[in-house]
Amino acid sequence: MERFTEPERTVLFRVPWVDDKGNVRVNKGYRVQFNSAIGPYKGGLRFHPSVNLSVIKFLGLEQILKNSLTGLPIGGGKGGSDFDPKGKSDREIMAFCQSFMTELYRHIGADTDVPAGDIGVGAREIGYLFGQYKRLRNEHVGVLTGRGLSYGGSLIRKEATGYGLIYMVEEAMKQRGDSLKNKTVIVSGSGNVAIYTCEKAQEFGAKVVAMYDSNGYVYDPNGIQTDVIKQIKEVERARIKEYANRVESAQYFEGCKGIWSIPCDVALPCATQNEIDGESAALLVKNGVKYVGEGANMPSTLEAIEIFQKADGVVFLPAKAANAGGVATSALEMAQSSGRLYWSAEEVDAKLKTIMVNIYHNIDNAAKKYGFDGNYVMGANIAGFEKVAEAMMAHGIV
Ligand code: GLU
Repeated sequence: MERFTEPERTVLFRVPWVDDKGNVRVNKGYRVQFNSAIGPYKGGLRFHPSVNLSVIKFLGLEQILKNSLTGLPIGGGKGGSDFDPKGKSDREIMAFCQSFMTELYRHIGADTDVPAGDIGVGAREIGYLFGQYKRLRNEHVGVLTGRGLSYGGSLIRKEATGYGLIYMVEEAMKQRGDSLKNKTVIVSGSGNVAIYTCEKAQEFGAKVVAMYDSNGYVYDPNGIQTDVIKQIKEVERARIKEYANRVESAQYFEGCKGIWSIPCDVALPCATQNEIDGESAALLVKNGVKYVGEGANMPSTLEAIEIFQKADGVVFLPAKAANAGGVATSALEMAQSSGRLYWSAEEVDAKLKTIMVNIYHNIDNAAKKYGFDGNYVMGANIAGFEKVAEAMMAHGIV
């Protein structure tokens, strides 16, 4: 455990770049290569002003266990910067990404460390990062995942975290003779994870009534129209407030916390860490929530998790299991890159579904085996840890 909690390597670096006014700007860059016992380091890059070493380390530790749960050969790592992509021009984003990669490239590699996106890092940023890596190394390899489809990306990677979350929630419901059909759902956030969670939940017949961004939330009793959210967030990069201007049945409320006061059957926090505190958890339970599935990384505080776990009949699916579909599909992207071929969307989606169903049963069985029936926090930690620990011991003291 002592070796497990100490990162194998931590890289901290300066990221200088020039903004559109000609000013020199400097940000902090991070890559924590946490554990490579079961495969190359794997985990996203986060660009957000809240990023610091502590945030990257908690994300990295989660990533080790999550990646192990996927059953695929990927170790754990995480990185990012305190750079704020909000309000930056395309050229500024490119300048930042190129500078970031000019240092990062010497530490990563397709068989060493394979970063991907996370908050603030999507297809555009991965494109600029990949371009600079390729230029510096003169190698076109699967060194990043979440790549565009024209240069090595995988179909369904973009949708994978959200779709995977819903596959797991549906499996947990199925085991209890229940399903998402006609359920009222709250999906917090409006980034990549939230959008495809909303899309898939609706495919399963649920009604998603609310979503938010960092300014406030929209409530639409008729069910959120995913295509309108996509247009606002993926195309226009605008605020979610816009949704209420375009959809008559919707209302916009300033501030985020109020979203958890809306009664729902299923709560799917898909924005960021600590977005559900004890007070919000208690309110959700009081209003009858039955399933909580974490799409974001650690969105529930410890106090909130305790409340969900103590509440009668509430199923709590922790992030490291519930949102593993993203990184699992990254591992599928790596496999396709190594094989120099592409799988169809149906093929990738079927593999993703199988992985999520397997993870659910693995954590359920581990919880049962160790005397914590229904406690998926325990189940996920134990099932994830076992494999990594076994590999670490096989490698000796390194
Ligand atoms: N950022 C995602 C996560 O938290 C995906 C990481 C990846 O695909 O490497 O798992």
